[in-house]
Amino acid sequence: MSQSGSDMMHSPAAVSQAMDDVTIVGGGLVGASLACALSGHGLRLSMVEPFPFATHSSPSYDDRTIALAEGSRRILAGLGLWSAIAEHSTPIKRIHVSDRGRFGTATLSAADQGVEALGHVVPARCIGQALADRLAAMPDLILRAPAVLEDVDVGETEVGLSIHSDGRDMGAATRLVVGADGAHSQVRALLGIGVRRWEYGQSAIIANVSPERDHHGVAYERFTDTGPMALLPMSGGRCALVLTVRDADLDSLMELSDADFARVIERRFGRRLGRMVQVGERLSYPLAYWRAQADVRPRVALIGNAAHTLHPVAGQGFNLGLRDAATLAEVLVDAARAGNDPGSDAVLRRYAAWRRWDQRRTAGFTDGLVRLFSNPLAPAAWARGLGMVAFDLLPPAKGLLSRSAMGLAGRLPRLARGLSL
Ligand SMILES: Cc1cc2nc3c(=O)[nH]c(=O)nc-3n(C[C@H](O)[C@H](O)[C@H](O)COP(=O)(O)OP(=O)(O)OC[C@H]3O[C@@H](n4cnc5c(N)ncnc54)[C@H](O)[C@@H]3O)c2cc1C
Repeated sequence: MSQSGSDMMHSPAAVSQAMDDVTIVGGGLVGASLACALSGHGLRLSMVEPFPFATHSSPSYDDRTIALAEGSRRILAGLGLWSAIAEHSTPIKRIHVSDRGRFGTATLSAADQGVEALGHVVPARCIGQALADRLAAMPDLILRAPAVLEDVDVGETEVGLSIHSDGRDMGAATRLVVGADGAHSQVRALLGIGVRRWEYGQSAIIANVSPERDHHGVAYERFTDTGPMALLPMSGGRCALVLTVRDADLDSLMELSDADFARVIERRFGRRLGRMVQVGERLSYPLAYWRAQADVRPRVALIGNAAHTLHPVAGQGFNLGLRDAATLAEVLVDAARAGNDPGSDAVLRRYAAWRRWDQRRTAGFTDGLVRLFSNPLAPAAWARGLGMVAFDLLPPAKGLLSRSAMGLAGRLPRLARGLSL
């Protein structure tokens, strides 16, 4: 962090004319959602993103597939984005959980819970496209892309920003900086906010696969001795595969022919859906659990992966980040309506206190799931089997887990309740 904001103002022409109210650093899935939520509420907004939106090259909008919880669908609907996304989505009618080679399975069904779908499966690229189209049409947003945040200088009433864009350095000032810049957050690093990090020694391989039999809208979660895997229902009978593998096995699995890789999936998943007749392009991601030691600092808030990066086994990362964005938007819009400073301590404390429970619960649940199902010892395996059988027989437990899986547990922001901001 630099010592003085004025050091960064290199030339008057390069400095924005007025101070922004909110600067969002990172235009990924979560940061762009926050910008959409804040637009139209009288706030002066800006965004800094290293990738040009027009080329849709952002790593946040790649070929991964997102299992979108019902609460997240409501938030996107409240932002007027769901109609553009819906045509690319596949409803999840049932979730089926099993442990390879052990007794016991557990299921959650939309019909039992009295809802049409437990969630929807959507390619991240389609959510990104809807967000990018909306950002391009927002009159109250200054979009700095491609641009990189280089320094921040937090003062009493404003934050000075040093930004590198178009081959030159420029300065800007804002009342609040939102770090939405992902797992390797520059905002977090510049402010010296520590991060707790667990390495799983695992990577995820994703690919679209076509099984022999129809998935009938079932999302499969399967735990195996080499790590969890998910097969999520997609259009045209395809499934989105998320296969967790040990880091040591990653290269050899990525190098397999499609036919041999299909056999690996069949061995891990079994033949519930028949043979895997086609396997699409494979991509891999290293997996770790990161948790920022604080979500807020004076005039700074962290959201999405910058605050917490989760193992994708439970499909919760974006859903949790979107609830961060919806909650922060609500707190900031309330402050704006009351004529309060969006970067004030009171506003940021409200945000951090509201998000604490959901973040701890969701991160703890996801991490606990990975650890419990990675434990090969017999007592743990028996406990898992018994737990799943008991769970399958207990409607109240299912109701509770369904509400969590649907992103409807705890105190929800207005957008997740289907209300407008
Ligand atoms: C294989 C896989 C499957 C997944 N499946 C699911 C799922 O089913 N359901 C679910 O809810 N979640 C899922 N997730 C998690 C989800 O993808 C992430 O939680 C989500 O993408 C986080 O979005 P974000 O905007 O917080 O961060 P990111 O997507 O990392 O975006 C960060 C943005 O910040 C920008 N940036 C980086 N550095 C800077 C800088 N210095 N200055 C300015 N900008 C910067 C980046 O270019 C990027 O646009 C999955 C993840 C993986 C890896």
